[in-house]
Amino acid sequence: MKHSGRCPKCAAERILHIESSRPEEPRMLVRRAPTVGILGGDGHVLEAVGRVEAFVCAECGYLEEYIVRPKSIPWDDVIGASWVEPPKREEPYR
Ligand SMILES: [Zn+2]
Repeated sequence: MKHSGRCPKCAAERILHIESSRPEEPRMLVRRAPTVGILGGDGHVLEAVGRVEAFVCAECGYLEEYIVRPKSIPWDDVIGASWVEPPKREEPYR
């Protein structure tokens, strides 16, 4: 929907772009960022690194979500996330 402007479920072309899927409290990806205190102590703060945007079909209600600017996200540092292992490919018979 983001690129085609058409719903993949019902083919309607009334697609609404929603800047944040929860305007009152935007959904964000976060990472733990180190901090150094005034007295030299160190700690961590949670830092927002990616906002969720959405596209919704006004006809059937199908909802698609994306992270804004994915190439700017430090993916390995995102809290609460882990990489999905790609499926193992079997060698073709020879
Ligand atoms: Zn639809």
